[in-house]
Parts: sequence; structure tokens; C-alpha cells
Amino acid sequence: MGTSRQSYVQKLDTDLKKPIIDLVIPVYNEARNLKAFLESVSETVDKLNSYYWQFIFVDDGSQDDSWEIIEDMARFDPRVKGVSLSRNFGKEIALTAGVESVSDADAVIFIDADLQHPPSVIAELVAQWEEGYQIVATKRETIEYSWTRKAGSRLFYFMLNRFSDLKVQPKATDFRLLDREVLKVLKTFEERTRFFRGLIDWMGFRKTFVTFSSPDRVNGKSTFNLSDLANLAVNSFTTFSLLPLRVTGWLGITVVSLSLTVLFYMIISQFFFAQVYTPLAYFVVFNTLLFGVVLAALGLIALYIGHIHTEVIRRPLYIVQNRIGFEDE
Ligand code: UDP
Ligand code: MG
Repeated sequence: MGTSRQSYVQKLDTDLKKPIIDLVIPVYNEARNLKAFLESVSETVDKLNSYYWQFIFVDDGSQDDSWEIIEDMARFDPRVKGVSLSRNFGKEIALTAGVESVSDADAVIFIDADLQHPPSVIAELVAQWEEGYQIVATKRETIEYSWTRKAGSRLFYFMLNRFSDLKVQPKATDFRLLDREVLKVLKTFEERTRFFRGLIDWMGFRKTFVTFSSPDRVNGKSTFNLSDLANLAVNSFTTFSLLPLRVTGWLGITVVSLSLTVLFYMIISQFFFAQVYTPLAYFVVFNTLLFGVVLAALGLIALYIGHIHTEVIRRPLYIVQNRIGFEDE
């Protein structure tokens, strides 16, 4: 901290030989946390001085003065870089913008700005990376979330693990370190609907976990509400699992066989046992069942078409409004 640009440039020569680690920090209305975050991160990172550190803050369209504070920090601390998005795009996309701003890092660490991902854990992440792990993820020991959110997330992970071809660790967080190899692959991903943690888990590589306990949010409150989380859950499902489509298939088969059985029974009993059914009865059996199948199928197909749609229109994922601290300015 407080290094002037000049002494920084003189230091560059030795620094350039050090491996580079970039932190990618999504920021949404974190004005009250940013200074404390930088201080806390600096404290940890100063001890790890065999690496050259850069902090890439991605301002995800904050309404408070987060961006001014980032600019401020960038002026005083050459390690700080900032990307400002033109509006709030959501954390997953902010992370993507951050990743795409990383140019030559040997490792990248995703970390939240609200101090819920304790910066001191960075030392452990790096230690595991030095051991040769290419992905060092974290698990959270205590969660202060409401029981509805906890139950929701438990159900989500259970379903995802059970029914999709993806194995994700419950309690895993976005706080993680990725080796440059992993990052290189991640950058080639072009899909639009994103669930970062899922994508990274899907990739494989040599991977390990570090456990930490999550403190309460210091300032402000969690910006994710239930519908955001529900959306994330639904999106991760439909991007990673064909289960809904399969269920529709099964439902269709069940309904068709049921209706055929009933119809067969009606015909048999009418012809051989002189049981009389009104045409209306036939009509109802036919109609209700087939109509149900069609509706269920349509509803689900709509979800998939939605994804195809977003993939196909290839709109940029985000728009950068401002950058600070990067060389190409
Ligand atoms: N965040 C973001 N865009 C958003 C919401 C959140 O960049 O639309 C950032 C936020 O500033 C924080 C991190 O993502 O650094 C995690 O957000 P939050 O603490 O609200 O989520 P939680 O800890 O409840 O998962
Ligand atoms: Mg948080």
C-alpha cells in the first residue's frame, strides 16, 4: 500500500519474474466494504511476497460510489485495477468480465468484496496450489443464512448431484483459486447462461478443497433474494441436466399408456359386456390426457428454447463502461 508509481516501476523488474496471481472481485454496492477489504487483502498478500499480485475489481453497476472508491484505490495502489460495467449484470457475469480482463496471470482467485470470503484463506489456497492442485475450491463451515435458504440450497445440490452429470460439492463457495491452465479453458467457454461454480466443477482437473468459516456480512446485506436464487437453480438445471426433458418424456409415456389402457378397457367392455359409454366419456378420456401431455411438453420445451435463443443471438454478455489501472489505457 502507498507505493508510489515511481518506486513501483523500479520494483517492476524484479516483480516481473515473480509468478502473477490476480484476484477477481465482483463488486455490487460495496462502498462500505471496499477499503476494509483492500486492507485485509493487502495484509495477507504482503506476506506472500514471492508472488506479484493484482486486484481486479469488477464494479457490477453499483448505485453507490463503489466505482469512485475503486478509482481512488487504483490511483494509490498500483496493484488495483478496475472494470466498471454499464449496469448490474449479476455476479456470474461480473466474474466473467473479470476473467476476461486477466491477461497473463499464473493463477486467479475469485473472492467476494464483502469480507465473507476471509482474505486470510488466500494463503492456504496458494499453499495448495503450490502442492500442484489446479483448482483449489473452498467449503464454508458455518452459514448464517435463513433456514429456507439453507433448505433450498440443500435440495438444489441434492437434485443437481442426483440428476445431472455434474458432481458439485454442497457448501462449496465461489471463493476459489484457478491455475492458468484451467483459466485458459474457462476463457474458451462461450455459453451465455452461466453458473460458474458448475462450469468449473464440470471441467475436472486436479482439485482440492480448503475449509473456512464464513463470518457475518460486515456491511450491507446479501443482495441475492429468493427469486435470484431460484433463477440460478433453474438455470443451472436446464443448462446442465436433461432431467426435465426426460421427466416430460416419462410423463408423456405414462399418460399415453394410461389413456390407451382406459380406452382399451372401454372398448372391450362395450363390445363384449354391453357396457355403454357415452361419446362424451370417450372424448373426455382422450382430451384431458392428451391435452395434459401437450401442455407439459410445451412448457418444458419453452425452457430449452429459451437457452437456445440466448446462445444463438450472441449478444455481448456485458458492456464495459470504464477501466482503470490496465496497461492498454
Ligand atoms: N455481487 C455482484 N453483482 C450482483 C450481486 C452481488 O457483483 O448483482 C457481488 C457482491 O458485491 C459480492 C459478491 O458478489 O462481492 C457476493 O454477493 P452477496 O454477498 O450479495 O452474496 P452471498 O454472499 O449472499 O452469496
Ligand atoms: Mg456475501
